[in-house]
Amino acid sequence: MLDAAFFRRWMTATTASVDREAERLTALDSPIGDADHGSNLQRGFTAVAAALEKEDPQTPGAVLILAGRQLISTVGGASGPLYGTLLRRTGKALGDAGEVSEAQFAEALRAGVDAVMTLGGAAPGDKTMIDALVPAVDALGDGFSASRAAAEEGALATTPLQARKGRASYLGERSIGHQDPGATSSALLIAGLVEAAGE
Ligand code: ADP
Ligand code: MG
Ligand code: MG
Repeated sequence: MLDAAFFRRWMTATTASVDREAERLTALDSPIGDADHGSNLQRGFTAVAAALEKEDPQTPGAVLILAGRQLISTVGGASGPLYGTLLRRTGKALGDAGEVSEAQFAEALRAGVDAVMTLGGAAPGDKTMIDALVPAVDALGDGFSASRAAAEEGALATTPLQARKGRASYLGERSIGHQDPGATSSALLIAGLVEAAGE
Protein backbone atom coordinates (compact mmCIF):
# COMPACT_ATOMS: atom_id res chain seq x y z
CA MET A 1 0.00 0.00 0.00
CA LEU A 2 1.07 3.58 -0.70
CA ASP A 3 0.71 6.12 2.10
CA ALA A 4 1.06 9.92 2.33
CA ALA A 5 4.79 9.55 3.04
CA PHE A 6 5.22 7.70 -0.28
CA PHE A 7 3.58 10.55 -2.18
CA ARG A 8 5.68 13.13 -0.33
CA ARG A 9 8.82 11.17 -1.30
CA TRP A 10 7.54 11.17 -4.90
CA MET A 11 7.29 14.96 -4.88
CA THR A 12 10.64 15.41 -3.09
CA ALA A 13 12.41 13.08 -5.53
CA THR A 14 10.90 14.98 -8.46
CA THR A 15 11.94 18.33 -6.97
CA ALA A 16 15.52 17.02 -6.74
CA SER A 17 15.61 15.60 -10.28
CA VAL A 18 14.07 18.77 -11.74
CA ASP A 19 16.79 20.77 -9.94
CA ARG A 20 19.48 18.46 -11.33
CA GLU A 21 18.09 18.49 -14.88
CA ALA A 22 16.81 22.10 -15.05
CA GLU A 23 19.51 23.26 -17.46
CA ARG A 24 18.91 20.32 -19.76
CA LEU A 25 15.13 20.89 -19.77
CA THR A 26 15.64 24.55 -20.60
CA ALA A 27 18.14 23.63 -23.33
CA LEU A 28 15.56 21.29 -24.90
CA ASP A 29 13.01 24.14 -24.75
CA SER A 30 15.43 26.45 -26.59
CA PRO A 31 15.19 25.28 -30.24
CA ILE A 32 11.45 24.52 -30.15
CA GLY A 33 10.20 26.82 -27.37
CA ASP A 34 11.16 29.80 -25.27
CA ALA A 35 13.94 28.29 -23.13
CA ASP A 36 12.13 28.37 -19.81
CA HIS A 37 10.91 24.82 -19.14
CA GLY A 38 13.62 23.97 -16.61
CA SER A 39 13.28 27.23 -14.70
CA ASN A 40 9.47 27.00 -14.82
CA LEU A 41 9.46 23.55 -13.21
CA GLN A 42 12.24 24.41 -10.79
CA ARG A 43 10.17 27.32 -9.48
CA GLY A 44 7.06 25.12 -9.32
CA PHE A 45 8.57 22.13 -7.54
CA THR A 46 10.50 24.33 -5.11
CA ALA A 47 7.09 25.75 -4.12
CA VAL A 48 5.66 22.23 -3.91
CA ALA A 49 8.41 21.10 -1.53
CA ALA A 50 7.97 24.20 0.65
CA ALA A 51 4.18 23.81 0.82
CA LEU A 52 4.41 20.13 1.75
CA GLU A 53 6.83 21.02 4.53
CA LYS A 54 4.60 23.80 5.84
CA GLU A 55 1.14 22.24 5.54
CA ASP A 56 2.07 18.61 6.22
CA PRO A 57 -0.88 16.97 4.38
CA GLN A 58 -1.83 13.60 5.86
CA THR A 59 -3.35 11.61 2.98
CA PRO A 60 -2.14 10.65 -0.52
CA GLY A 61 -4.93 12.70 -2.07
CA ALA A 62 -4.14 15.79 0.03
CA VAL A 63 -0.43 15.61 -0.88
CA LEU A 64 -1.14 15.58 -4.62
CA ILE A 65 -3.91 18.21 -4.48
CA LEU A 66 -1.60 20.58 -2.58
CA ALA A 67 1.26 19.91 -5.02
CA GLY A 68 -0.99 20.50 -8.02
CA ARG A 69 -2.29 23.74 -6.59
CA GLN A 70 1.28 25.02 -6.10
CA LEU A 71 2.24 24.20 -9.70
CA ILE A 72 -0.81 26.00 -11.05
CA SER A 73 -0.17 29.12 -8.98
CA THR A 74 3.63 29.39 -9.40
CA VAL A 75 4.46 28.18 -12.94
CA GLY A 76 3.69 30.84 -15.51
CA GLY A 77 3.79 28.62 -18.57
CA ALA A 78 1.73 25.97 -20.32
CA SER A 79 3.31 23.24 -18.23
CA GLY A 80 2.14 24.67 -14.86
CA PRO A 81 -1.62 24.31 -15.36
CA LEU A 82 -1.07 21.00 -17.17
CA TYR A 83 1.12 19.37 -14.47
CA GLY A 84 -1.02 21.03 -11.80
CA THR A 85 -4.13 19.49 -13.30
CA LEU A 86 -2.39 16.12 -13.54
CA LEU A 87 -1.54 16.04 -9.84
CA ARG A 88 -4.75 17.65 -8.61
CA ARG A 89 -7.02 15.38 -10.62
CA THR A 90 -5.00 12.31 -9.58
CA GLY A 91 -5.24 13.45 -5.95
CA LYS A 92 -8.99 13.98 -6.19
CA ALA A 93 -9.43 10.51 -7.62
CA LEU A 94 -7.62 9.06 -4.59
CA GLY A 95 -10.23 10.58 -2.28
CA ASP A 96 -9.42 10.80 1.43
CA ALA A 97 -8.05 7.30 1.98
CA GLY A 98 -4.99 7.10 4.24
CA GLU A 99 -3.41 4.44 2.02
CA VAL A 100 -4.06 3.39 -1.55
CA SER A 101 -3.11 0.31 -3.54
CA GLU A 102 -0.87 0.50 -6.60
CA ALA A 103 -3.91 -0.44 -8.70
CA GLN A 104 -5.94 2.44 -7.22
CA PHE A 105 -3.04 4.78 -7.90
CA ALA A 106 -2.78 3.57 -11.52
CA GLU A 107 -6.48 4.24 -12.02
CA ALA A 108 -6.22 7.69 -10.44
CA LEU A 109 -3.18 8.63 -12.55
CA ARG A 110 -5.16 7.56 -15.63
CA ALA A 111 -7.87 10.05 -14.61
CA GLY A 112 -5.17 12.70 -14.16
CA VAL A 113 -3.67 12.10 -17.60
CA ASP A 114 -7.15 12.16 -19.17
CA ALA A 115 -7.74 15.55 -17.52
CA VAL A 116 -4.48 16.87 -19.02
CA MET A 117 -5.63 15.74 -22.47
CA THR A 118 -9.00 17.43 -21.97
CA LEU A 119 -7.41 20.68 -20.75
CA GLY A 120 -4.63 20.89 -23.36
CA GLY A 121 -6.37 19.15 -26.23
CA ALA A 122 -3.29 17.05 -27.01
CA ALA A 123 -3.45 13.40 -28.08
CA PRO A 124 -0.62 10.87 -28.26
CA GLY A 125 1.69 11.72 -31.19
CA ASP A 126 1.30 15.51 -30.83
CA LYS A 127 4.83 15.80 -29.35
CA THR A 128 3.90 16.80 -25.81
CA MET A 129 4.13 15.48 -22.25
CA ILE A 130 1.24 13.20 -23.20
CA ASP A 131 3.68 11.09 -25.25
CA ALA A 132 5.48 10.12 -22.04
CA LEU A 133 2.50 10.10 -19.67
CA VAL A 134 0.17 7.81 -21.63
CA PRO A 135 2.74 4.99 -22.06
CA ALA A 136 3.72 5.44 -18.41
CA VAL A 137 0.14 4.93 -17.23
CA ASP A 138 -0.34 2.03 -19.64
CA ALA A 139 2.72 0.28 -18.14
CA LEU A 140 1.96 1.09 -14.49
CA GLY A 141 0.23 -2.26 -13.96
CA ASP A 142 3.66 -3.86 -14.51
CA GLY A 143 5.25 -1.78 -11.74
CA PHE A 144 7.03 1.55 -11.30
CA SER A 145 10.23 0.52 -13.11
CA ALA A 146 8.27 -0.60 -16.17
CA SER A 147 6.38 2.69 -16.08
CA ARG A 148 9.63 4.65 -15.91
CA ALA A 149 11.06 2.76 -18.90
CA ALA A 150 7.88 3.40 -20.90
CA ALA A 151 7.97 7.12 -20.09
CA GLU A 152 11.64 7.42 -21.08
CA GLU A 153 10.99 5.57 -24.32
CA GLY A 154 7.97 7.80 -24.99
CA ALA A 155 10.04 10.94 -24.41
CA LEU A 156 12.78 9.76 -26.81
CA ALA A 157 10.14 8.89 -29.40
CA THR A 158 9.00 12.55 -29.55
CA THR A 159 12.18 13.55 -31.47
CA PRO A 160 11.00 12.64 -35.00
CA LEU A 161 7.47 13.99 -34.42
CA GLN A 162 6.08 17.31 -35.63
CA ALA A 163 4.53 19.30 -32.78
CA ARG A 164 0.80 19.89 -32.99
CA LYS A 165 0.26 21.57 -29.59
CA GLY A 166 2.01 24.24 -27.57
CA ARG A 167 4.70 26.71 -28.65
CA ALA A 168 6.64 24.10 -30.62
CA SER A 169 3.68 23.75 -33.00
CA TYR A 170 4.32 27.32 -34.24
CA LEU A 171 7.48 25.96 -35.87
CA GLY A 172 5.61 23.45 -38.01
CA GLU A 173 8.03 21.04 -39.69
CA ARG A 174 11.00 22.75 -38.04
CA SER A 175 9.92 21.17 -34.74
CA ILE A 176 10.97 17.78 -36.15
CA GLY A 177 14.29 16.43 -34.85
CA HIS A 178 14.10 17.83 -31.31
CA GLN A 179 13.06 15.97 -28.17
CA ASP A 180 10.06 17.54 -26.43
CA PRO A 181 10.97 19.19 -23.11
CA GLY A 182 7.64 18.40 -21.45
CA ALA A 183 7.80 14.72 -22.36
CA THR A 184 11.33 14.72 -20.92
CA SER A 185 10.20 16.25 -17.62
CA SER A 186 7.29 13.81 -17.48
CA ALA A 187 9.81 10.98 -17.62
CA LEU A 188 11.55 12.58 -14.62
CA LEU A 189 8.23 12.75 -12.76
CA ILE A 190 7.55 9.06 -13.39
CA ALA A 191 11.14 8.15 -12.45
CA GLY A 192 10.39 9.78 -9.09
CA LEU A 193 7.94 6.95 -8.37
CA VAL A 194 10.77 4.41 -8.53
CA GLU A 195 12.81 6.51 -6.12
CA ALA A 196 9.85 6.98 -3.75
CA ALA A 197 9.32 3.21 -3.69
CA GLY A 198 13.03 2.71 -2.94
CA GLU A 199 13.34 0.31 -5.89
P1 ADP B 1 5.64 27.35 -22.27
O1 ADP B 1 5.55 26.63 -23.59
O2 ADP B 1 4.41 28.12 -21.96
O3 ADP B 1 6.91 28.14 -22.15
P2 ADP B 1 6.88 25.21 -20.75
O4 ADP B 1 8.11 25.53 -21.53
O5 ADP B 1 7.02 25.19 -19.28
O6 ADP B 1 5.70 26.19 -21.14
O7 ADP B 1 6.32 23.79 -21.18
C1 ADP B 1 6.37 23.35 -22.51
C2 ADP B 1 5.89 21.90 -22.58
O8 ADP B 1 4.51 21.84 -22.23
C3 ADP B 1 5.98 21.30 -23.96
O9 ADP B 1 7.25 20.73 -24.18
C4 ADP B 1 4.88 20.26 -23.98
O10 ADP B 1 5.33 18.99 -23.54
C5 ADP B 1 3.91 20.78 -22.96
N1 ADP B 1 2.68 21.29 -23.58
C6 ADP B 1 2.51 22.49 -24.17
N2 ADP B 1 1.24 22.61 -24.63
C7 ADP B 1 0.61 21.44 -24.32
C8 ADP B 1 -0.71 20.94 -24.52
N3 ADP B 1 -1.66 21.67 -25.11
N4 ADP B 1 -1.00 19.69 -24.05
C9 ADP B 1 -0.05 18.95 -23.43
N5 ADP B 1 1.20 19.38 -23.22
C10 ADP B 1 1.54 20.60 -23.66
MG1 MG C 1 8.76 27.15 -22.53
MG1 MG D 1 7.20 30.11 -21.44
